[in-house]
Amino acid sequence: MSGDKTQDKPQDISCDVAVVGAGPAGIAAALALAHVGADVVLIGPEPPKPSTAQQDTRTAALLTSSVDFLKRLDVWETLQGVAAPLKVVRIVDASQSLVRSPDIAFKASDLDLPAFGYNIPNAVLTASLYARARDTVPTLITESVERIEHDNASARLTLSSNGTVTARLVAGADGRRSVCREAAGIETRVWRYDQGAIAASFHHARPHDGVSTEFHKEHGSLTTVPMPDPLQSALIWIGSPSETDALMACDDAEFTAGLQTRLGDTLGPVTSSGPRASFPVAGLTAKQLAHNRTALIGEAAHVMPPIGAQGLNLGLRDAAALADCVARALARGQDPGGLAALTEFARARQLDVLSRSVGVDLLNRSLLTGLLPVQAARGVFMAGLNAFAPLRRLVMRVGLEPPSALPSLMRPAA
Ligand SMILES: Cc1cc2nc3c(=O)[nH]c(=O)nc-3n(C[C@H](O)[C@H](O)[C@H](O)COP(=O)(O)OP(=O)(O)OC[C@H]3O[C@@H](n4cnc5c(N)ncnc54)[C@H](O)[C@@H]3O)c2cc1C
Repeated sequence: MSGDKTQDKPQDISCDVAVVGAGPAGIAAALALAHVGADVVLIGPEPPKPSTAQQDTRTAALLTSSVDFLKRLDVWETLQGVAAPLKVVRIVDASQSLVRSPDIAFKASDLDLPAFGYNIPNAVLTASLYARARDTVPTLITESVERIEHDNASARLTLSSNGTVTARLVAGADGRRSVCREAAGIETRVWRYDQGAIAASFHHARPHDGVSTEFHKEHGSLTTVPMPDPLQSALIWIGSPSETDALMACDDAEFTAGLQTRLGDTLGPVTSSGPRASFPVAGLTAKQLAHNRTALIGEAAHVMPPIGAQGLNLGLRDAAALADCVARALARGQDPGGLAALTEFARARQLDVLSRSVGVDLLNRSLLTGLLPVQAARGVFMAGLNAFAPLRRLVMRVGLEPPSALPSLMRPAA
């Protein structure tokens, strides 16, 4: 299939699945659902072109299973030129704590892998996914969903133009303030951290050699992540709100100088820094992952602090798992939005979502705490990781693989 399926003034469209939200998780879900033969409609404002998307300074470190998913969706080829391999993850305790943890390096080669994954600019990733969706998703609607009503057989979505879409299943990928989640009556647990995050990129004099370094400090962390240019890295700077507000207000020279102080000699002199944007640091989990003809995907289901590169990887696993459940329901002649399919999706995703949400929350809180026993426990754990290669390999595997089986589209092609 090819050609643009964008509907300008959609009226009374019916489909198996309406995916709401054209962020990376939603577009990947629509592509995966189209791949398994579902009649799918993708609804949401078109993502901005990367050249105009100055405000999205984020990159996404995507793990190998996410990369395998992009390969199966035929998106990876267009991303190779902008993807940088992550070969080593270094963790450095840069705190003033009395019990500082030893530095530690996780190497992909210890797992016989060329890389843990690849770092890709968010805006380019989203645009590439959307370009592929134009070719393979049966219908694209570039409007917002205003309202959703459910009955026994379907969900009826009212669009901003007043057009309607009737779907047996709604895949809610409409981000942290999800209309789909609210319309389905799904409650959330929401919590805040006393932190802000800045995403940017910078140039440095020494090559990064595929190494990502996380400097852990009181109130947060500073993480450098390789970019394809060996002398450029992405940056996630998490700190107290007053620190990140001040950093956002700096001019480029002041920011570069502050960055140099924090990085020391790790990458040599910092030669320039790119545009910066700030993001809230918060946590959210939906109390149900599926209910009322609605399955939640990506940040509509879970939001976590940007440490450990878990957020979008989890969102892509939601997308791939939903495609499996819908494919099975359709093959059995069942309703893809019926109770059996929704229960299967929620079961497939709950342990992965819960374990990542709790793990990232604990890691972040352990950086925020001034409690000596917690800092000491962290130090002992890190020393253990340093000393015992099998423990280090186990932790790497837990970081890379979900606790349950990978969805079919994330398994490497035979
Ligand atoms: C600084 C930072 C660094 C990060 N680094 C990483 C990383 O290295 N690795 C990783 O895995 N994750 C990372 N993340 C997390 C990752 O960026 C997010 O998980 C991901 O971008 C969320 O994608 P999404 O599609 O779920 O949501 P969004 O990108 O928020 O997309 C939601 C979409 O829904 C649309 N929408 C909203 N309401 C409606 C409506 N009513 N109708 C139709 N459409 C609607 C919006 O327009 C939007 O396009 C990072 C996050 C931050 C803040």
